[in-house]
Amino acid sequence: MKELAPAKTLDGFFFDLARARTRLLVLDYDGTLAPFAMRREDAQLYPGVASLLETAMSRGTEIVFITGRPARELADRLPFSGIEIFGAHGYEHLAANGTLTQKSLPAPVEAALSKMDQMVVTSGYAYARERKHGTLAIHWRHEEAPTRRALKELGAQLQGQLTAGMQALPFDGGLEFRAIDHHKGTALANLLDRHPNAHVAYLGDDTTDEDAFAALPPEGLGVLVRPELRETQADIWLKPPEELRGFLSRWATLAPLPQPRRAY
Ligand SMILES: [Mg+2]
Repeated sequence: MKELAPAKTLDGFFFDLARARTRLLVLDYDGTLAPFAMRREDAQLYPGVASLLETAMSRGTEIVFITGRPARELADRLPFSGIEIFGAHGYEHLAANGTLTQKSLPAPVEAALSKMDQMVVTSGYAYARERKHGTLAIHWRHEEAPTRRALKELGAQLQGQLTAGMQALPFDGGLEFRAIDHHKGTALANLLDRHPNAHVAYLGDDTTDEDAFAALPPEGLGVLVRPELRETQADIWLKPPEELRGFLSRWATLAPLPQPRRAY
């Protein structure tokens, strides 16, 4: 664990969180709560994490996920139901009641993504690509060096297809092309608009999580979760899984919030 922002300590955050009326825990999934697996469909939560999250929820914490995965795909992976999820880097929103909404894409961006997708398929690397609403990614994390090189070259060719309103974004083990109107930061800002007084932490591992760290309010806590520290806008760094479990355990064992009084 390392505190990265001189003015913000973990103890100080938890001191305030214990007294907050609304606790909001916003989470990335892959690489943050679930270690990378050879196949993306195999990525499971670190042992112990699910029960800590459940305890936190039962004691009044609101938990929301912001992921690069399609929202429904993540919903199917989670061991609890009725969780709000922003998917596809903010281009999708799955409400707790199961309603899915998608942000529309400008036509030129949609056309460019389709063309790039076709280029990947005709190059013979269809298996390495991931096409989602608003994004196209190629993954080389688990490839041998020659394939990795070939995919990086293909990535450079694809960059030539970018149109206005798009960007290429390297991540751990690949390259992603996406529309830029929405991202994890706009998703978090949208969420915070609905929870203006929440005491909030955001946990993420990747460069795409930096937008969310930047969107946190001054008293919020950005938590970088990854094996090695890197340049980041987060406030603290945790090394998974032990320090991650320690953080979630501390959160889960806070005294429960009073139940909201309901009007009938
Ligand atoms: Mg991640």
